[in-house]
This record gives sequence, structure tokens and C-alpha cells, in this order.
Amino acid sequence: MNTLKNRVAFVTGSTSGIGLGIALELAREGADIAVNGLGDAATIDGVLSQITAVGVRAHYFDANMRDGKSTQAGVYAAITQFGGLHILVNNAGIQHVASVPEFADEKWDDVIAINLSSSFHTIKAALPAMQSQGYGRIINIASVHGLVASANKAAYVAAKHGLIGLTKVVALENAAKNITCNAICPGWVLTPLVQAQIDARAKAQGISVADAEKGLLSEKEPSLRFTTPAQIGQTVVFLCSDAAANMTGATLAHDGGWTAQ
Ligand code: NAD
Repeated sequence: MNTLKNRVAFVTGSTSGIGLGIALELAREGADIAVNGLGDAATIDGVLSQITAVGVRAHYFDANMRDGKSTQAGVYAAITQFGGLHILVNNAGIQHVASVPEFADEKWDDVIAINLSSSFHTIKAALPAMQSQGYGRIINIASVHGLVASANKAAYVAAKHGLIGLTKVVALENAAKNITCNAICPGWVLTPLVQAQIDARAKAQGISVADAEKGLLSEKEPSLRFTTPAQIGQTVVFLCSDAAANMTGATLAHDGGWTAQ
């Protein structure tokens, strides 16, 4: 315990779902947390209270991951506020489901900006501090959709494949600087992002939400189980541990066998 004491972690999109799970697991290991993501004041206060209850510092940064300048400014603000940055988790993401001819141009731009370009901007802003201190752990939350495709998810699949490419480049550029960069590729994790897809499936097929959930899992995920946000968070903690000090440029599938098929 407390293996990450005196480390500062910036977790994008940590007001909900997987990002919140990651922030809580890092906090349980003693890291101070820069919280980011959308949400009203009550949601953000609730997230900050959950994290500080563990006994670490937490501050909220309202950087909009849709906008490069705002994203970079958020990282700089966190470095100033905490006096350093050691761990960066690029987790913020959105989904949009439509076939290519029906895919709205602005939805394409939104998904690419939030799921891919934001990670370029956070990494660009974080690297000078990490390089000068000779330590950094960058973890990109990609997806099985960074490794394989599904129909009707053109922007998401393109963004996540791109994120894995970015992960490898950052790993190579910093390999001898004690800065690692790895990607985690979850299959299904039950969060608001996936609940929306389950609800849409239930509506489209005229079935119950429980049956839609079973159908979703059985189509792609052989384990027939969701991974939890806490499990993804514990994988992030592992990537920040000494055991993973020489792991870089890797993609870790966390997908119940989805990509083994
Ligand atoms: P979620 O909707 O619960 O959380 C997404 C987070 O991103 C929220 O905190 C939200 O506020 C934030 N966000 C969205 N747009 C933003 C913006 N413009 N600026 C700042 N923050 C913004 O979704 P989730 O399922 O927890 O997804 C988190 C990440 O995990 C995403 O990158 C997603 O692609 C990835 N992922 C999820 C699953 C899954 O099954 N849930 C599977 C694979 C990968």
C-alpha cells in the first residue's frame, strides 16, 4: 500500500465510469489526483470527496478534451497546482454508433478529437515535466477497438487504433528516459457509455435490458462477464509499479477473450 505516495496522477474523464475507477485505485495507492471530466458541480464535488476520503489530495481541472488548447492548459494548471506530474492516464472518451454514410461529420470530428487528439495534447504538455524529473508513467485507455473493428463504429475504431500508434511512438521517444507509455484495451466494462448501447439494443430489438446485456456480452466476450472499472484501475496501478518498469509500448487486452478469437 502507498506505493504511489508523493506521485501526482492526472486522469482525464475521471468524473465517471472507468476514469473514476482508475482515480480511486491510484488514490488507494497514495497518489494525489488531478480530476478532469464533464459533470455538474454536485457530481464533481462527489468525486473529489470520494478521492480525498482515501487521504490524498485531489483537485478538479475543467479542461475540455474536445479542444487542444484547453487540454494543454489543464495539464499545465495541474503541474502548477501540485508542483509536478508523474502519472498521466488518458481515459476521456465518447462513442457514436452509425454506418459510414450516416455518420455525421461533426460526430466524426468529436470522437477523433476527444478519443485521440486529446491524448496527443496531454502527452505533449506533460512530457517536459516528466523528462526533467526523469520519471513518467503514461497509460492510454484504448479499447479492443484499437486492435479489431466492429461495424458502425468508424470514428471510435479509427481513434483507438490511432491511440495505440501514438502509444508506441511515445514509448520509443522516451524509452531511455524512465518514462513508459502503454495502452490498456478493455472489452466491455459496464459504465454509462456502454449502458447507452445496451439501452439502444433493448429498444431496437424490443427485448428487456437484461436480455440486451446478455446479447451484448455473448456476441463478443467469451467470458460473458464485464470487466469492472476497479479492475482497469488495478491494471493502471500495476503499470505504475516497479514490476512494470521495463514494460513500454505494450497493449494489454482486458477483454474476457474478445481478441483471442
Ligand atoms: P463514461 O461515459 O462513463 O466516461 C467518460 C468520461 O469522459 C467522463 O468522465 C466524461 O465526462 C469524460 N469526457 C467526455 N467528453 C469529455 C470532454 N470533452 N472533456 C473532458 N472529459 C470528457 O465512459 P467509460 O466507459 O468510462 O469510458 C472511459 C474510456 O474507456 C473511454 O476512452 C472509452 O472509449 C474506454 N473504453 C470503455 C469501454 C467500456 O466498455 N465501457 C471499453 C473499452 C474502452
